[in-house]
Amino acid sequence: MPLEPLLPLFHRLDREHFDGVLAPGGRPLVDVRWSDGRLTRTAGLYRRGRLADGRDLCEIVLSRPLLEPLPRQATLGTLCHEMIHAWVDRILGVQEVHGPHFRARMERINRSQQGFEVSLRHRYPLPLSASRWIARCPRCDSRAAYQRRRQGLACRPCCERFHGGRWDPSCLLVFERTSA
Ligand SMILES: [Zn+2]
Ligand SMILES: [Zn+2]
Repeated sequence: MPLEPLLPLFHRLDREHFDGVLAPGGRPLVDVRWSDGRLTRTAGLYRRGRLADGRDLCEIVLSRPLLEPLPRQATLGTLCHEMIHAWVDRILGVQEVHGPHFRARMERINRSQQGFEVSLRHRYPLPLSASRWIARCPRCDSRAAYQRRRQGLACRPCCERFHGGRWDPSCLLVFERTSA
């Protein structure tokens, strides 16, 4: 699905699950934005700090390459996950990552609705379109995405099917560069 503006989602989640405290007077305490195409190690992040020019930074960034191809629930769950981090940090003033405050709020949100789920981990498989390399099996023609070229990887299903589960050079994956 195409990229959805995040701010309306942020306000909605704030009203429904945080009693509006993350946007007092309608002004968000946190900037919310989509990443460029390079954020692929996590679906989302929350960070606060000071920029080199002295301005304060407090933002939620969601990964465009990971979330764009997924259903909307993945965006909602990831945004809500990062909003819990912002709530623990800015509202409770507690230093924790996925500690007891985080987990209690996450469980409460998950129990209260069916539209999406917040989880502790949010890694999603890298879509083929966002990766640098495609590894193709010359025997079965299956494809998988990789960020880095890897030496000596063989297709596991083919090694199992044709070589009794042993690595065999005839199943070596062929790495092809993508234009991403
Ligand atoms: Zn987290
Ligand atoms: Zn194969």
